[in-house]
Amino acid sequence: MRQKMAVGNWKMNGTGAALAELQALAAAQGAARAEILICPAATLLSRAADVVKDSSIAIGGQNCHAATAGAHTGDISAEMLKDAGASAVILGHSERRADHAESSEEVGAKVCAAWEAGLMTVICVGETLTEREAGDTLNVVAAQLKASLPDGATGENTVLAYEPVWSIGTGKVPSLAQIAKVHNFIRAELTTRFGAEMAESTRLLYGGSVKPGNAAQIFAVSNVDGALVGGASLTAEEFIPIISALDAS
Ligand code: PEP
Repeated sequence: MRQKMAVGNWKMNGTGAALAELQALAAAQGAARAEILICPAATLLSRAADVVKDSSIAIGGQNCHAATAGAHTGDISAEMLKDAGASAVILGHSERRADHAESSEEVGAKVCAAWEAGLMTVICVGETLTEREAGDTLNVVAAQLKASLPDGATGENTVLAYEPVWSIGTGKVPSLAQIAKVHNFIRAELTTRFGAEMAESTRLLYGGSVKPGNAAQIFAVSNVDGALVGGASLTAEEFIPIISALDAS
């Protein structure tokens, strides 16, 4: 039985004042059945970890470097994230793939570094609108999975997020059938490569414009074990109903 999961990706949003939202979330979500992971900006990590220390909410990073240390100005290692209070890290988000030209091979190397540091990885895959319209969605997702997901992936160290790039931050959501098709495909790909035990224990999250108004429908889709949420995770007011919908699913 896979524990449902809600991940909040705060992206490059929030200063110390935003921790009030995390405080409100922690106060309200004591009884949540779903696992909750909030990934704030790196500058907030240790303060966020402090805010949630008496709750079941976990804190994660949004990226890490593949190296353990060295001359990489502006970068953060997986060990540094862990030291700041993170237990997980999002890797391969489409904004990093686009803004920093991160290849799936680089994502795979970062995943290895994160596992080495004891972090769980939330690995993102998903097609652009052009790729979907060309009928390439499953090929793109398969190729990203192959290179971004190293051997050694387990249901404990890995969560996968299917995030169609055209749905992130746009308010456009794929049909429920389109979501089901990709999630069923990912589960089948995991089974082929890693075996049934790994495939059945790995959480598959949907990400892309999840809001309180559409969460329940999305969580009812086959092989959707939760959500990776951007905009609607920034306030407790919007994120709490999404978590409630997940708990009820
Ligand atoms: C995301 O940042 O991964 C995301 C899905 O954003 P949004 O929920 O705002 O579409």
